[in-house]
Amino acid sequence: MTNIFNIQNDIANLLSWYHKAGRTLPWRSYWPNLTPPYHVFLSEFMLQQTGVNTVVPYYRYFLKQWPTIHALANASIDDVTAAWAGLGYYARARNMHKSAQMISNGDGIFPKTIPELTNLPGIGPYTAGAILAFAFDEPSVVIDGNIERIVSRYFHIGTSLPALKLDLPSFYERMIPKTHRSDFPQALMDLGNEICTSTSPVCVRCPLAKGCKSEKTENPGLLPNRSNIKNKPVRKGQIFVISTKVKNEDKCKYLVYRRDENGLLGGMLAFPSQGWDEKDQKFDRAWRPLNIKWTELKPTIRHIFSHFISEIQVFTTEIDKPKNQIMPLKLQYHKKDKRKIPKEFQWMSADELKLPKLMQKALKLAQKHN
Ligand code: SF4
Repeated sequence: MTNIFNIQNDIANLLSWYHKAGRTLPWRSYWPNLTPPYHVFLSEFMLQQTGVNTVVPYYRYFLKQWPTIHALANASIDDVTAAWAGLGYYARARNMHKSAQMISNGDGIFPKTIPELTNLPGIGPYTAGAILAFAFDEPSVVIDGNIERIVSRYFHIGTSLPALKLDLPSFYERMIPKTHRSDFPQALMDLGNEICTSTSPVCVRCPLAKGCKSEKTENPGLLPNRSNIKNKPVRKGQIFVISTKVKNEDKCKYLVYRRDENGLLGGMLAFPSQGWDEKDQKFDRAWRPLNIKWTELKPTIRHIFSHFISEIQVFTTEIDKPKNQIMPLKLQYHKKDKRKIPKEFQWMSADELKLPKLMQKALKLAQKHN
């Protein structure tokens, strides 16, 4: 078993690496400075299902518009959800607003315990732990995907997911330093982004290498153990990427719509698709949203959802005159499809698109083909 003193030597190395190489983020403070709890609250709600780069401008806007928890609590829910547009998963905005009201209507002081925080709508153990660590320098447990990977590798824990999640907190607690507790989880997150990545950990550059048990194995990237995840049901599906060249510019626009708020990828921008979000898998594989020539792209893309794995064929087509062709055609959804027909399609360039992961993978494949 790795000695606690050795662990803390590694953590000291990690923290000094973080102070040199850590990312600068608008909601981040470096110890001994702490981020105000309201700022952590805002950023963590936004980051729950959205990447850092997308969140930054929204975070800045919200802070400017509603600089305190009381200001947010007093804002109308319509204003809050309108400002949230583009971040998707609108339930987060509603929960955030409701939580702000509960805190503001109480004594206005941020709760400082896990039970109090997880009692608020939309705040689970991860967000509660993050608020306690980043804003109050508490020794709370904060385990996201990056941290899960690093801790399982550092201690070489072979338990497969999802059971691994139950084992991790006690290992994580052994790594928490006596000071810089607000920095510690953020340092691990950056390490997971930069060095201990999911497929290719760069152990020679890693500040945790000395005590890391996986580093001494033939393939340090094998953990966490996902063998049980491989037993998840597989859903097939198709995504249709329709592009058009922008006149006099070397770029394309893509046809997207906003998905229904309820259900998978609710409220997010998406390409037309079918199958992957249907449990019964009775979709018509020959159906296409437009009766024109399509190219099927290789390879099939895979994306892991919490309760299934999707295997998607991506089809692409390019059209010349979007206004004349698409609008009269009105992309018809499959007749058997009981979902609502998307109300509005819009053309957006790749740099305007804020897509969920699955759609990002489809776009990447299509861009290689274009
Ligand atoms: S030594 Fe390698 S496997 Fe271990 S934490 Fe660092 S990068 Fe990850």
